[in-house]
Amino acid sequence: MAAEELLKYQRIVIDQDTCISCGACVSVCPAGALELDEETAKARLIWDKCVDDFSCVDVCPVYCIYKTSEAPDEHKAKDGWYRFSRELSEEEKQAFEQWRQQYGVTGNPAQ
Ligand code: SF4
Ligand code: SF4
Repeated sequence: MAAEELLKYQRIVIDQDTCISCGACVSVCPAGALELDEETAKARLIWDKCVDDFSCVDVCPVYCIYKTSEAPDEHKAKDGWYRFSRELSEEEKQAFEQWRQQYGVTGNPAQ
C-alpha cells in the first residue's frame, strides 16, 4: 500500500491519564487496534492496525479518545499511548512521519 493511501487514515489519540481501563474501546474496535497495557491497564492504540471508523471515540465513557485532528496538543505530546504491532515497512514509516507532521503528534510510541 502506498504511503498516500496509508496517510488517508488519521487514526486516534488516547489520553491514558484519563482512561479508567473499562475496556469498552477494545471490545468495539473492529480492527483489533486497541489493547489494555499489561501493567497499567490503560488503553493503547496499535497504530498500524487502525482503520478510522472511530467507534472507540463514541464509546469511551470518560471521553479520552479523540480523532487525531481534534486531539488537544498536550495529549499528542505524551509518550506511550500508541505502539506498532510489528516493524513498519518503508512506506508505513513514511506515512507515520507524515502523520506526525500533519497532526502535530510529538509523543513517542511505546517500546
Ligand atoms: S478508530 Fe476504529 S479501528 Fe481505530 S482504534 Fe478506534 S475503533 Fe479501532
Ligand atoms: S473506553 Fe476509554 S476509559 Fe475505557 S479503556 Fe478505552 S480509553 Fe480507557
